Amino acid sequence: MFKETFTAGRRQVLKSTGLAAISFASAVFGMGAMLASSAASAQTYPTKPVTLVVGFAAGGPTDIVARSLAQSMTKTLGQAVAVDNKPGAGATIAGNLVAKAKPDGYTLFIHHNGMATAPALYRKLPFNPLTDYEYIGQAVDVPMTLIGRQDLPVKNFEELVAWIKANKAKVNLANAGLGAVSHLCGTLFQQTLATDLTTVPFNGTAPALTALMGGHVDVLCDQTTQTIPHINAGKVKLFGVTTKSRIGALPNTPSLHEQGLKDFEVVVWHGVYAPKGTPKPVIDTLTAALQTALKDPEVMKRMKDLGAEITPVSKQTPDGLRTHLGAEIEKWGKVIRAAGQYAD
Ligand code: ASP
Repeated sequence: MFKETFTAGRRQVLKSTGLAAISFASAVFGMGAMLASSAASAQTYPTKPVTLVVGFAAGGPTDIVARSLAQSMTKTLGQAVAVDNKPGAGATIAGNLVAKAKPDGYTLFIHHNGMATAPALYRKLPFNPLTDYEYIGQAVDVPMTLIGRQDLPVKNFEELVAWIKANKAKVNLANAGLGAVSHLCGTLFQQTLATDLTTVPFNGTAPALTALMGGHVDVLCDQTTQTIPHINAGKVKLFGVTTKSRIGALPNTPSLHEQGLKDFEVVVWHGVYAPKGTPKPVIDTLTAALQTALKDPEVMKRMKDLGAEITPVSKQTPDGLRTHLGAEIEKWGKVIRAAGQYAD
C-alpha cells in the first residue's frame, strides 16, 4: 500500500516533472518562434502589396495626396502601396472597413478632419476614431478655395455674395457628403452669410468639380490640391482662399477673411491610420516610410505647387496624430452639436 502509494506518488512526481519539462521546453521553443516571427515580420514586412484606402472618389484631393505618398512609400517599402477608393457616407464606409480589417499592416487608411467630425455627425458611427486604430502620423495640411462655375454672372467675391443673397436656395452648393471638408467649409460659409443654399452631395469633390465645370452646380469649397490646376487653366472662377492669410501658390488671391468673412478659416489636415492591434514594429516601419515620403523632393514639390504644406515633423508620428485627432474631436464635437447637424 505504502509502496504503491509511494510508487504512484513517485510516478506522479516524475510525470509532472516530465510534463513541466515538456511544457517549459515548448514554451521556450514557442517564445523563440514568436520572437523570431515578430523579428521576421519587422524585418521582412511588407512581403506583399499594401492597400491605402481613400474614402472619396478617385482624382479628388484626398486621392491626390494619397497617390503622391503611396508612390514614394512604394520606393521605401519595396512593395507596391496601392490606393483603393471606397467612397461613400463622408468616408465613414472606408473608415469602418479599415477599422475591421486584419491588423497586419496591409490595410491602411488616409483621412482628413472628417475623422474628427464623424463622431459628432454620425449618430450610429460603426467605429471609434480614438480606440479602433493605430496611428501612423500626420502628413500634409491643405488650404481650401471657394470656386464657382465659369459662367456665374459675377466678377468677384463681393458680387458673389450679393448674387447668393438674391438667389438663396436657388444656389447649388456642391460637397463630398456629410463630414467631408467641402461640407464643413460650405456649412461655415452659409452660417457666416446667414443663408441656406441647396447643398448637392457627391462621392468626392472630383465628381463635384466635374459637375461645376459642366455648369450643373454653382459653387464649391474645395482643396487647392485639386482646384489649382483648374483655376490656372481658367476653367473655374476663384473667389478666395480659406486660410487667414494668402498662400504662396495663389499669391494674388485674397483670403475670405480679408474680404470681409471675419475669422473664416478652414485648413485640411491629413492622417494615416492602421487597424487597432497592428504590431508596433510594423507601425514603426510605416511611420518611417511616411516620414521619408514627406522629405521626398518629388512629394515636396508636388505638394508645394498644389498649395499644400508638409505637416511639421513632430506631428508626423503616432503620438502627433493621436494628440491632434483628440483635440479636433473635442473642438468639432462642440461646434457640430451646437449646430444640431448629424445623420443616423
Ligand atoms: N476630401 C474632400 C472633401 O472632404 C473630398 C475628396 O477628397 O474627394 O471634400
